[in-house]
Amino acid sequence: MKIQPHCSAVCLLSLLLLAGCAAALSGDAPGSWRWLRGNTHTHTYWSDGDAPPDLVAARYRDAGYHFLVLSDHNVLSQGERWWPISNSGGRPLRDEHLEQIEKRFGPGWLVTREVEGGGEMRLKTLEEVRGALEEEGRFLMIEGEEVTDRYQGHEVHINAVNIGEVIPPQRGGSVAETIERNLDAILEQGRRLGRPVLAHLNHPNFVWSITVDDLASIRGERFFEIYNGHRGTNNNGDASHPSLEVMWDEANTRRITTLRLPLLHGLATDDSHNHHAGDLVSSEGRGWVMVRARELSAESVISALRAGEFYASSGVSIADFGFQEGRYWLVIEGEEGVTYETRFIGTRSDGVETGPPGILLEKSLSLRPEYRLGGDELFLRAVVISSKLHPDPHARGDFESAWLPPQRGPAAP
Ligand SMILES: [Zn+2]
Ligand SMILES: [Zn+2]
Repeated sequence: MKIQPHCSAVCLLSLLLLAGCAAALSGDAPGSWRWLRGNTHTHTYWSDGDAPPDLVAARYRDAGYHFLVLSDHNVLSQGERWWPISNSGGRPLRDEHLEQIEKRFGPGWLVTREVEGGGEMRLKTLEEVRGALEEEGRFLMIEGEEVTDRYQGHEVHINAVNIGEVIPPQRGGSVAETIERNLDAILEQGRRLGRPVLAHLNHPNFVWSITVDDLASIRGERFFEIYNGHRGTNNNGDASHPSLEVMWDEANTRRITTLRLPLLHGLATDDSHNHHAGDLVSSEGRGWVMVRARELSAESVISALRAGEFYASSGVSIADFGFQEGRYWLVIEGEEGVTYETRFIGTRSDGVETGPPGILLEKSLSLRPEYRLGGDELFLRAVVISSKLHPDPHARGDFESAWLPPQRGPAAP
């Protein structure tokens, strides 16, 4: 079990106190919102993950997550599917895994059968997992799929959150068109089924698939993964490719000036395929979102994400943040012995032609950093980087961080 606990009892108490204080500041009654921790990108045996869905979901629940999206490739966890019981081969379902499942869910939960060549276990459907693990106000499973498409070797993967029917890859005549057609199909299903859905573009730097032009031009939606826990997804770029943070700022600068599109929001996810012990390519608990929602429901979570009431984290906890009256402010929940550098990053109106997009506007080592607007910012955002190395990093040398939503500045046209 590798998931890091998000918060100790002591820091939970300080979080509650701060939350109450912030609620008073913003005029809301204390308790009218709460932080919910969630992962929207997870794989299981339903596609290329290495564990059954019930075991995976139980691990997230037991680690304190409030919501989870199982997002297998081009499939929903529905219907009848059997998995061979074997102690060898690729993605084996070992006897010890069966014991773990039985211990967690109790006798009678496992359904197995004998076939020629050995035993098989029936994969639980989402409805069965929900029945065993969901609890009002405590844990929610949101139905999802990683719509997995490609264009001429460029991987276009988009997570569809809170859908109800499988969405096949839509194909397109370019990367940008492939993105757009899939986003349209996801949002169209939401309208047709009368439910809120959310789509996010995954791991743009996976096999260097998505350029900053593609990212900037997204029209149907405005979410992408600023952090993906899988080690093959190149969040930090390389010598010849920009990092996701650089791409994010450049894309948002173009969106706010020439393209006149809403700002893109960045999410953090695990993209967990590997669910057993070891130094893994992907695993549970590397990156997540903290959503400030009124209640634990798919509607409330999606509406809070759309309103920018969230931050993405790979370990840093934020007790509160806001953007009001000419300032962007944060309250960081500090851990003893750890320091935190907050960088306020943005683009100034005179920097569009002359400088690189996304310059450092100001930095702070305070646990209550704030940035006062100068008046010429097109947009700005905040990122907090701790002095603590991530214990199970996407890339060696990554520090635990938090990415806060970008905001339109006073110079935005
Ligand atoms: Zn993917
Ligand atoms: Zn994935």
